[in-house]
Amino acid sequence: MQTVIKNPNWWRRRTTLERCLTLFSILLAIATIVLALGLGYALLHEKVTDEPAPASPKPSMTPAEALHGDSTVLNKVPAADGKSLAGGKGAADDVCFSKECVHTASNVLSRMKPEVEPCDDFYEFACGTYMEETNIPDDKVSVNTFSVISDKLQEQLKDIITEERPMTEPKHFRLPNSLYKACMNKTLIESLGTDPIVKIAESLGGWPLLKGDSWNADNTWTWQEQVKKFRRLGFSMDYIIDFSIGVDFKNSTVRIIDLDQSSLALSREYLVKGFNETLVSAYYDYMVDIAVLFGANKEQAKKELLESLEFEIALANISWPNEKRRNSSELYNLRSTQQLQQSYPYVQWVDYINALLPEGLQITEDEPINLSVPSFFDDLGKLLAKTPSRVIANYMMWRIHAFSVGFLTDEFRKRQLQYATALSGRQEQEARWKECVDIVTGSEYDELEYEDSLAISVGSLYVRKHFNQDSKAIALEMVNNIRGVFNDILDEVNWMDGKTKTEAKEKLHRMATHIGYPDEMLDNEKLAKYYDKLEVNPDKYFESFLGMNVFGTDYSFNKLRLPVNKTEWVRHARPAIVNAFYSSIENSIQFPAGILQGHFFSAQRPKYMNYGAIGYVIGHEITHGFDDQGRQFDVKGNLRDWWQPDTQKAYLEKAKCIIEQYGNYTDRATGLNLNGINTQGENIADNGGVKESYIAYRRWTEKNGSEPKLPGLEYTPEQMFWISAGQTWCAKYRKESLKMRITTGVHSPSQFRVLGSLSNMKDFAKDFQCPDGSPMNPVKKCEVW
Ligand SMILES: [Zn+2]
Repeated sequence: MQTVIKNPNWWRRRTTLERCLTLFSILLAIATIVLALGLGYALLHEKVTDEPAPASPKPSMTPAEALHGDSTVLNKVPAADGKSLAGGKGAADDVCFSKECVHTASNVLSRMKPEVEPCDDFYEFACGTYMEETNIPDDKVSVNTFSVISDKLQEQLKDIITEERPMTEPKHFRLPNSLYKACMNKTLIESLGTDPIVKIAESLGGWPLLKGDSWNADNTWTWQEQVKKFRRLGFSMDYIIDFSIGVDFKNSTVRIIDLDQSSLALSREYLVKGFNETLVSAYYDYMVDIAVLFGANKEQAKKELLESLEFEIALANISWPNEKRRNSSELYNLRSTQQLQQSYPYVQWVDYINALLPEGLQITEDEPINLSVPSFFDDLGKLLAKTPSRVIANYMMWRIHAFSVGFLTDEFRKRQLQYATALSGRQEQEARWKECVDIVTGSEYDELEYEDSLAISVGSLYVRKHFNQDSKAIALEMVNNIRGVFNDILDEVNWMDGKTKTEAKEKLHRMATHIGYPDEMLDNEKLAKYYDKLEVNPDKYFESFLGMNVFGTDYSFNKLRLPVNKTEWVRHARPAIVNAFYSSIENSIQFPAGILQGHFFSAQRPKYMNYGAIGYVIGHEITHGFDDQGRQFDVKGNLRDWWQPDTQKAYLEKAKCIIEQYGNYTDRATGLNLNGINTQGENIADNGGVKESYIAYRRWTEKNGSEPKLPGLEYTPEQMFWISAGQTWCAKYRKESLKMRITTGVHSPSQFRVLGSLSNMKDFAKDFQCPDGSPMNPVKKCEVW
């Protein structure tokens, strides 16, 4: 839709040719400045090294001062055409030409598309050139602002991991290198072939479809015994019933055993569609081909694996969809083990659970257990009763063989890639070293489950080498400023009663903050103790990986009887990741060292860039404490309804607006509608986050004065805030991975994270003078916070 522009600015009044020429001269001027700076720098500094900046600059030199200091000197450098770079009259004094500013400006300009009308499509305006000029590498499924930093991080981690460490160095620093070597040793992996998994499979009675009639000749096989063996060997024990030990939602000072619906190989959303879904067919073909590679007769494999797949589809059908799993109260159903035994006699529960717990840890029939989805356990009993053991065994053995594929020869991995291409669009295997770095650092896990990786060891080395301590204080100050804004929003909202408001404020103020990394990560004794029981054999890749799983599971399960320490360092010890987190159980926010850089953060550039990026992220995480899921937990991290009925009603109305707004977005590439329910938590966090950070930035300026512009960017600081916020989500996806994200994910695709949240912001519309009713300034706006 074409928007009527009431008051076109200078840029919009230019013709395309004029715009091109202007851009060209700006770029030329930037190049001149960079050269001048480089020369100046070389003259001023005798020694130019590649070493990172010293950890602590002079205390008197705050970044803001340094920024102005640089610009005072450098602003006097005229542009090639004799005019100031900013173009505007007298604007030269307000432009920052420091190295960091020029670099930032160039990054911003390279991604945005200024000729697009920001009020029509701000995503296109902020990320248009990025979308046009970025190609997704063959080994990736998407690229975005985060992945640019992750890629650099991956290179840094490679250097750390591959560094040879003599035997005199502590074991915990040598482990990553050993595992990396095991992973990189393709010659050994090829020569071993399927041996590693075949040996293990034999010890588990074998894969029925490979064994033929000789499988289970003595008729003693049970799936329960198989799960127990999986656990001891380091395989997942969650294929039939998900088993974990977590914090008790209603009393978050203690832990509890949790039983949940099965963990499936393909998302439930796809499986329930059966063979109508092309990905289910792709999955089935993959199952058959892998079995054939392991030596199965194709016809036999087709027949037996079809039954396995039907069993997995049945498991999917008795599981709850994600839409139903957002209400934590419904997932909280305490039973004693004795009650469990009466209701679900198909498992000898005390015996089963004790076998999964580490040595020395036992339960009795009084043990409380949480059943996340009780109906699943009713239905599971019926399903198991009518399914032949052979089918269940084929399925379980399929799962561990599928798990092993990544550790096997190229022949297997080529077939794996073909399946990955169907799922995510990935065209090529990534370079072996990248995969091995990910294996060592546990990067295959998105969330905070990294205890069974070497993430803590590698992270410790990473922060020692690459983390700038100054970032911590600046980020903490931003957290406090943004928290202050949320506090005032709570004061101002008219739909909350006083009692609920007081609780909300307490929750906000007692939210714990973890920035960078915990200090314990620098304590070698603590690291040594943590990794004491872990060994890695560089000649045994698969076995070493399984050993790490046993180690991680033991660590996590051994906490069953220990009081919950919400600030425990191990839970916050994954600094080498470009992400941020909110934990409702801890009521804490976490910003690992990895995200405090690049697009997100720099101490040496105008604050509008930081507030638009890491500030947005900080606001986002804080707001998670008050989204549809986070709000179910109180200040102490306990699941407790602290909302007065009317306030709750008002909240749900507001959330409904967000659900409908996003649910009505259709992605053009896939033709799919977003899932408004599953994405509501993230959308509420985005909307609140960007608003809080914007207000915090405005307050900062009120106190500290207006900030300079960036060269070549004739926008106000406020407009730059929104550009920085928009560019936080520049992303390109392969169609397949977009389909996956929309169907199964909790985050809206990037484009809608920008369009959805900014079109709800009155301040955005004001800053860009968007006409009422224009796409970015719709009459109907949603607002939770
Ligand atoms: Zn989030």
